[in-house]
Amino acid sequence: MKLYNTMTQQVEQFVPLEPGKVKIYTCGPTVYNYAHIGNLRTYVSEDILVRSLRFLGYEVIRAMNVTDVGHLESDADEGEDKMLKGARRERKTVWQIADYYTDVFFQDMEKLHLQKPDIVMRATDQIDEYIEFIQVLQDKGYAYQAGGNIYYDVSKFPDYTKLSRMPLENLQHGSRGEVSLDENKRNPYDFALWFTKSKFDDQEMKWDSPFGRGYPGWHLECSVISLKALGEQLDIHCGGVDHISTHHTNEIAQTESYTGRKWVNYWWHAEFLITDEGRMSKSKGGFLSLSRLQELGYDPMDYKYFLLGSHYRKQLMFSDEGMDSARTAYQKLKERTLALEEAIETEAYLDQFKAALADDLNTANALTLLYAVLKDDSLKSGEKRYIIQQMDTVLGLDLFREKEHDLDVETIERLIAERNAAKSEKNWARADEIRQQLIDMGISIMDGKDGTTWKVN
Ligand SMILES: [Zn+2]
Repeated sequence: MKLYNTMTQQVEQFVPLEPGKVKIYTCGPTVYNYAHIGNLRTYVSEDILVRSLRFLGYEVIRAMNVTDVGHLESDADEGEDKMLKGARRERKTVWQIADYYTDVFFQDMEKLHLQKPDIVMRATDQIDEYIEFIQVLQDKGYAYQAGGNIYYDVSKFPDYTKLSRMPLENLQHGSRGEVSLDENKRNPYDFALWFTKSKFDDQEMKWDSPFGRGYPGWHLECSVISLKALGEQLDIHCGGVDHISTHHTNEIAQTESYTGRKWVNYWWHAEFLITDEGRMSKSKGGFLSLSRLQELGYDPMDYKYFLLGSHYRKQLMFSDEGMDSARTAYQKLKERTLALEEAIETEAYLDQFKAALADDLNTANALTLLYAVLKDDSLKSGEKRYIIQQMDTVLGLDLFREKEHDLDVETIERLIAERNAAKSEKNWARADEIRQQLIDMGISIMDGKDGTTWKVN
């Protein structure tokens, strides 16, 4: 298996810490809103990584955090509190918001046929561990208290920029690109481990600690959860490229300060989904959730097919045309796979397929091979089915499931009526919930001048 390692900036032969076993940590979602399809691209790529390793014979254990603590707009602990903003928008408590969007996130993962990580831990369940971690950093001289908060002193970690390879001055802090103006810090690049005082006195999630009643900094949770779930060393740490310069940089500094040893062997990063307005992000209005994509008439598998056509380390331009051609191609592909006869075992093509995966997850080549199988006249129909079934255990394109046609029209119409009633009462949260319920049933709804219409996805 060859993988690109951000730390060395090279494609390297993958060698696990323990032969045959792989420990992977993936940064999880922040659950104050729907994941946008750009975020989901990272999770799709990570799923391909995990499934490929398993297909190649490795025993994989993967852990992920869920960021359910209120956090700020930017990596640099500035801006508005995201969880609180979500709660205000939807008139719920921060805890309800976190629960609701955690559920939605895992539903999105299911819709995309992504395997759930073996270990999932919520940030809010690790408070004692954060306190212990911070105390160790204090004892070792890496952390200091100032103005009521605890900060990590980046000047104590000489290799601070080893992942980003950027001069410290180039690091973008703050949503507007400036260095944090927090006057309590010794160095402008120091980051908070624990807040008792911030600009946000209305932060609702707070815990008692030896440093005062407050809440943890964002970067802390990934270090603590990965140590707890997977031990002191990891084979692979995954995330989006936007995490390289600050979040992962800070994770490395604090974890290696805590353990006193190298933490991660391979840093793996997925590129952005972009639109003609630039990178898709939650802070810009009009981001696309998977549910929204379904409302627009696409199946989650259309989107996955669209993603797999390009390499995870390349930026991918999202467009209606791209999605339309992915939908057409996916539907045609599925018609062909469903028409194949009962599976007959064969070894044909599987070595080539493994080689495509082992080539830094070349999913585009893997898809090309899949089409080559369909076209190959020397194979029996059942052999084609067998090979493609094997391939689909990695690609997860759901190529052999027939659509369910048993429609409960009465329930659909009742839900739509309930949703319209909720909308007229301006109960948007309830209206959203019902829309989600319909989407989960495979129904898209369209609001038009003549009322609401629906169709089966
Ligand atoms: Zn993380």
